[in-house]
Order: sequence, then structure tokens, then C-alpha cells
Amino acid sequence: MSSKKSVMVFIQQTNGKAADVSLELVCKARELAKRLGVKTSAAFIGNGIREEAQRVAAYGIDEMLLAENAGLKDYTPVPYTKVMVDIIKKHEPQIVLYGATTTGRDLGPRIASALKVGLTADCTDLQIGDHEVKDKTFKDILFQIRPAFGGNIIATIVSPEKLPQMATVREGVMRLTAPESGYKTTFTDIAVELKKEDFPSEILKRVQEEKRVNLKGAQIIVSGGIGVGTKENFDLIVKLAHTLGAEVGASRAAVDAGFVAKEHQVGQTGTTVRPKLYIACGISGSIQHRAGMAESSRIIAINSDPDAPIFQIAHYGIVGDLKDVIPRFIKAYKEKA
Ligand code: FAD
Repeated sequence: MSSKKSVMVFIQQTNGKAADVSLELVCKARELAKRLGVKTSAAFIGNGIREEAQRVAAYGIDEMLLAENAGLKDYTPVPYTKVMVDIIKKHEPQIVLYGATTTGRDLGPRIASALKVGLTADCTDLQIGDHEVKDKTFKDILFQIRPAFGGNIIATIVSPEKLPQMATVREGVMRLTAPESGYKTTFTDIAVELKKEDFPSEILKRVQEEKRVNLKGAQIIVSGGIGVGTKENFDLIVKLAHTLGAEVGASRAAVDAGFVAKEHQVGQTGTTVRPKLYIACGISGSIQHRAGMAESSRIIAINSDPDAPIFQIAHYGIVGDLKDVIPRFIKAYKEKA
């Protein structure tokens, strides 16, 4: 198997620790590479990242390309773009995947522009298939799938003419599978040739805000939508969540209405979650909301409209006014607990 034409993942790191989204992408890359009969590779850029590279490799990297340099400790656009472009030119991956993070969203377009290749942002699925245009068939092309036109269609985007085909994917969208201790990985050092002018900006201080909401790690999520009515009523959602030991989620409409902070938003432009139990209260079940929660193990929907689309994916549905239903829900739970 040639190391060229691999499915490559850009491993994003902060303080030497790989981002969860990069690990998720490695798992997806493994699936795509198997389908294509090629290797997986990773471009890991930083400083002092060797140990972390071992950890990342166990998720399924055949060739780990390590670019280490004191100037590359933290992400800055110019040197990272230069190093990535050099890696891609030399190793000729067929596909390159980036997390749809602030870093990935900055780096991906710079690389696409430098190499004059396509890039699809915020993919919700990636598949391999043949693409036919008139009398020409492009074999084993990356289908870059994402909602488009305000979520009214699911578009399959292809960039068959030039390699690599590149996509960004948000955290939580791809499933993380368990690492495999002893996974056979080749580690290759990349010679980094950077000059002073490759560092036009300098990081003076990094300020990182603590994550207060952990939707991704929650086993139970109680989410409120615009049907909750007011910011005050949203306390009902918080109370139910506290009673169940759950995290608080929300639809974008509830966030936009100011009921709750954006970090609680579930969906296409919020967080993708797969809890054991998801309780949707006063949420209609738009395609964008479902994109972030439809894979929950169990879904309970509380909605006054019996025809609300959320009932199509709910395992249990309660038709009623959430202002009546939630207090009864809490009372019944406390009596049983
Ligand atoms: P609505 O659709 O208005 O539904 C409110 C529901 O509450 C209704 O079903 C109603 O029957 C019910 N209801 C009303 N009163 C009560 C009551 N008293 N008791 C019980 N039920 C009641 N949305 C997201 O959620 N997450 C995203 O990440 C996201 N990203 C988007 C990205 C793009 C590009 C676009 C265009 C849109 C996005 N949206 C997203 C918005 C999405 O299209 C919907 O507008 C939004 O999900 C609707 O939120 P909602 O269900 O709270 O409101």
C-alpha cells in the first residue's frame, strides 16, 4: 500500500494535547481509507508532541508525520499553512480532513487557496462513491455531505478534478471509537524550514475560558426551545435538568430569544450530542436541531402540537403544555427516586 494517496487528518493541538475533533476525524479517516484501500496519515504540527502523537496514532494512523519546531508550539496561520502545504505537496494525500474549529476554519481555506483545491465546510457526513459527469466517471470520490440553503436540502459536494479533496467537520459529528493499543504506526519527522519572515505574528498571551457547559459528555440532556415561552419559564428546563442530574440544552431559537447562552445550543451550528436520554421540551424538531441530537439513544419530546416533527424521531412523546407537564414530571420522578 503506497503512503501516497492517503486519507490525512490535520491534528489540531493546544498545549500539546490533540483536540477531540481530531481524534474523531482519525476514526472517520480509518473508515474512508479502508473503503479506498489506502493508508491513513496524520499531520501533527507543534513542539514536544511526540508522546501525544503515540496516543493519537492508536486511534488508527498508519503514518504519523511530525513537524516539530519551537515556533510551532501554538497555532499561528502563516507558518502552519507553510508547513501543511509542504507536507501535502510532498505526501500527496487524496483527502485531508480538518476540525471545523476556529483553527481549522482559518487554516483550511488558506491551504485550499495556496493549492487551488476545493474545501467543503461543516460536513455532517463523508462517504466514498463514484461521480458521473456526462460521459466521464470519477471513481472513489469523497462525497462531502452537508445541509445547504438554510437546511432545506442536504447537498453532496464533490471536488473530483483536483487532489486533495478537503473538508472540515465539527466536533462531535463523527463517532469516536476506542483506541487500539499496539496499532502499527510509522513515525516520520518532517524537516521544518522556516525563516524569520514566516512568523509575522507573535502570540504574547493565551487566555482560555473554562468550559462551563459539557453537553458532549452528558448522559442526560434536557433541552428547551422557543415553545418554553419566556426566559423565566426556562427555569423549568433548568429545574428538570437538575432533578435528573442532566445538562441543559437548547434550540437555536431559544438561544436567539436570549433564554439561555449559546454554549447550550444543540444542532448543526451548536453541539452534536449522543446522550443516553434527550428530553426536548417545546422544540419543533427542525432539521438543523435534529442534526445535533437525532443519534441520542432515547428521545422524549414534550410538545403541545401533536404534529410537531420532533415526534417522528422521539421514542416517547408527551402532547401537552410543557408548563403543566414538566412540574408533573419532576413530582413523579421525585416520588419514585
Ligand atoms: P420552533 O420551530 O418555533 O418550535 C417551537 C415548538 O414549541 C413548536 O413545535 C410548538 O408546538 C412548541 N410549543 C409552543 N408552546 C408550547 C408549550 N407551551 N408547551 C409545549 N410545546 C410548545 N436550530 C437549532 O436548534 N440548532 C442549530 O444548531 C441550528 N442551526 C441552524 C443553522 C442554519 C444555517 C439555519 C438556517 C437554522 C438553524 N437552526 C438551528 C434553526 C432551526 O431552523 C429552527 O429555527 C430552530 O431549531 C427552531 O427552534 P424551536 O424548535 O425552539 O422553535
